[in-house]
Amino acid sequence: MKRIAILGCTGSIGCSSLKVIEAHPDAYQVTGLAAGKNMDLLAEQVRKFRPLEAAVLGDREAEGLRKRLDGRVGTKIVSGTQGLIRVATLEQADTVISAITGAAGLGPTYAAIRAGKDIALANKETMVMAGPLVIEEVKRRGVTLLPVDSEHSAILQCLQGHPREDVRRVLLTASGGPFRDFSLEQMEHVTPEQALKHPNWSMGPKITVDSASLMNKGLELIEAKWLFGLDIEQIHILIHPQSVIHSMVEYKDGSIIAQLGIPDMITPISYALSYPRHMGTSLPALDLEQVGTLGFMKPDTGKFRCLDLALRAAEIGESMPSVLNGANEVAVELFLRGRIGFLQIPSLIEKTMKAHSPFVIDSIEKVMQADAWARQRAAEFAEADRCFGRG
Ligand code: NDP
Repeated sequence: MKRIAILGCTGSIGCSSLKVIEAHPDAYQVTGLAAGKNMDLLAEQVRKFRPLEAAVLGDREAEGLRKRLDGRVGTKIVSGTQGLIRVATLEQADTVISAITGAAGLGPTYAAIRAGKDIALANKETMVMAGPLVIEEVKRRGVTLLPVDSEHSAILQCLQGHPREDVRRVLLTASGGPFRDFSLEQMEHVTPEQALKHPNWSMGPKITVDSASLMNKGLELIEAKWLFGLDIEQIHILIHPQSVIHSMVEYKDGSIIAQLGIPDMITPISYALSYPRHMGTSLPALDLEQVGTLGFMKPDTGKFRCLDLALRAAEIGESMPSVLNGANEVAVELFLRGRIGFLQIPSLIEKTMKAHSPFVIDSIEKVMQADAWARQRAAEFAEADRCFGRG
């Protein structure tokens, strides 16, 4: 029996994780849940899964949850950063699913590792911002960290049974998002509603916008570098519009091994929990005859500048990936609120990166320092652009 705490239980990954857990009551048990503000859904989940503890964003949310539960469930309610850390480090949990969006996921995930928990990692920002520190801590504590991201889950599956030194490179696939065939002029005028309509995947808003800008693929490249100990040159990004091949590994003799499946996060979540086994899911089988043709093409980094910026940040290293990530989070939020255009996302990130002097990241505090600096600078650049009417 795996005892699981889920950070971000009310989100897209959180809800899919609960479906996986529910399908195998003999194998998995929920001991902790952590959410932000969605108290209606959290109350429903707490009633159903009866965790020992539930963490929420703040006191107001805690009050809201208490009211909804009306003293009928024995779950202890905790709040704020301390509450989140408490659920991430619960003595009664052995595995933590890290599925909070953005930089907010780093602290609790790191705390969970330090407390000796195995990690099923969806929060890619953790690896982007603090990859080397996280890997070092995982080794020191002897815990297992497995990816939930479908591409990284695919890579992990393609690596099974093969010596790592035989790997030539990894082929990281990307759907290309809703604007794959748009011209730059068309991209200039896209709305948040258009960006939130991903052709193949159903996900939370932040990652959906990142998929439309291809920043998501850049973040995944950095995540893959640290998770699998690869050089950046060993990671090749490939647009594959059907999202049927989730990624591939090429070996030194020219063999390429691919992992295929329908685009649904149930599969990689399930694999991260049952590794190295493949447990049953309720998903339909992939119908390759129905899929018909598989296509592949090169990403256009001239059009999708976020991908290029992520590559640059990966090459520079040190605090730069944190700055890339922090500036991107600010830019995506501004775009979703209708304050900036889609093409201003890369402009804002680029300005912030150019203004940054990278420094060595040797502690989580330093990582958060770079993140805070980037957020402030990006917000200042956005404000200046707004005042001067620049894009
Ligand atoms: P969602 O926006 O759907 O969900 C985010 C979750 O995090 C919600 O439960 C939200 O709570 C919670 N949350 C947000 N901020 C805080 C905070 N400060 N404190 C506590 N809880 C918080 O995101 P996704 O599920 O789509 O993505 C989650 C992570 O997984 C991201 O890092 C993403 O990149 C990664 N990922 C997602 C994939 C997907 O298919 N969705 C695929 C691969 C990776 P509430 O809603 O209650 O406020």
